[in-house]
Amino acid sequence: MTASSTLQRVAVFGATGSIGASALDVIARHPQRLRVAVLAAGSQVEALLDLCQRHRPRHAVIAREDLFPALRDGLRERGLETEAHAGMAALDALAAGDACDTVVAAIVGAAGLSSTLSAARAGKRLLLANKESLVLAGELMTRAADAAGADIIPIDSEHNAIFQCLRSRQAKGDVRRIVLTASGGPFRGRRRTELADVTPAQAVAHPKWSMGPKISVDSATLMNKGLELIEAHHLFGLSGDRLGVLVHPQSLVHSLVEFVDGSTLAQLGLPDMRTALAVGLGWPDRIDSGVAGLDLLTQGRLDFEAPDMDAFPCLRLACGALDAGGTAPAILNAANEVAVSAFLQGKIRFLSIPALVEEALAALPAAPADSLEALLEADARARRITETTIAGHAARA
Ligand code: NDP
Ligand code: MG
Repeated sequence: MTASSTLQRVAVFGATGSIGASALDVIARHPQRLRVAVLAAGSQVEALLDLCQRHRPRHAVIAREDLFPALRDGLRERGLETEAHAGMAALDALAAGDACDTVVAAIVGAAGLSSTLSAARAGKRLLLANKESLVLAGELMTRAADAAGADIIPIDSEHNAIFQCLRSRQAKGDVRRIVLTASGGPFRGRRRTELADVTPAQAVAHPKWSMGPKISVDSATLMNKGLELIEAHHLFGLSGDRLGVLVHPQSLVHSLVEFVDGSTLAQLGLPDMRTALAVGLGWPDRIDSGVAGLDLLTQGRLDFEAPDMDAFPCLRLACGALDAGGTAPAILNAANEVAVSAFLQGKIRFLSIPALVEEALAALPAAPADSLEALLEADARARRITETTIAGHAARA
């Protein structure tokens, strides 16, 4: 039986977010082949209820346990048959359970690790947007997926582009190197001194992509590209010296793969995540995503430049964590999550984000990590240290 002749039941974790919305848009275009089976959110019950009304899933999950009554009663009031669940354990169980064949892992941050890992262990088709889970526990994740026969299809646009060029998740011996493109974010071209006073509103105003607040700040610091290097290392099995970054402000070339014969393949398209999601949902078929084709004549130019590691030290820190291995990427990621959250709340300044990450990495030297417990412990310690050191970085009024 071909993939297109079976109905694929899809769980969308992080349904109320930016990737969740794009995934649901693509799914709704293909009622004959795709069905929303599970919808999950963190705390926005009303938004989740609206999505349940529209997509009629079998199950809905709210991560915050205290919000269970609101979800259950809301479903009942709307006359929906969707079953209500709450808590991380319910997320894990539904990711692994019989209700879905495919999981869109689009929870933001390390909070997505458990359910993503659960889907991988259960052998589901895993549409992986939650890059933090790969940064934190990439080896465990890919090993679990391979052991269970789970297909991981990267949704991050760069990795999705590479996946399309390779037509696989495994870079073979014929790949010389992989180059991730980066838009450069809203502060591209600024010197370090010009970044001291930038505000959260300026940082989340991404020039090319419309995304959630956390990844938008990561794009402004270039930490996003650093996380993506670590993500690429785990997904495609290449060492750091064979991974590069090129700033490409138009965000039309989504990444490049160079082969040993001198050929370079790239994937191009408008910056709209529905393309990557359609690749993941339809693969190996190509299905309509709602995204228009690329008219290069109208677009005009494609520019490329080197990233500025001095103005954007997060990229350098992430490269260091990738080289150090072990617990270093988990520490980097956890410190960054805490620092970005503090920045978004106006508690610290923009340049304190790399400073806090650097302090956490210095305070907690990388140790080998071959268990989930060791990685989660490193994550927890980095969060505690960063919460403490944040006091010394409090934004002055
Ligand atoms: P958003 O902030 O828009 O959405 C985050 C989603 O995660 C929401 O549905 C939110 O629920 C849910 N969530 C938050 N915390 C928890 C929790 N503790 N438990 C369960 N669910 C939770 O983020 P994005 O959609 O932008 O990003 C999602 C992931 O995809 C990130 O890892 C990001 O790096 C990655 N990604 C995103 C891209 C994009 O274009 N947006 C591109 C490439 C990767 P609620 O609304 O209830 O808070
Ligand atoms: Mg990306």
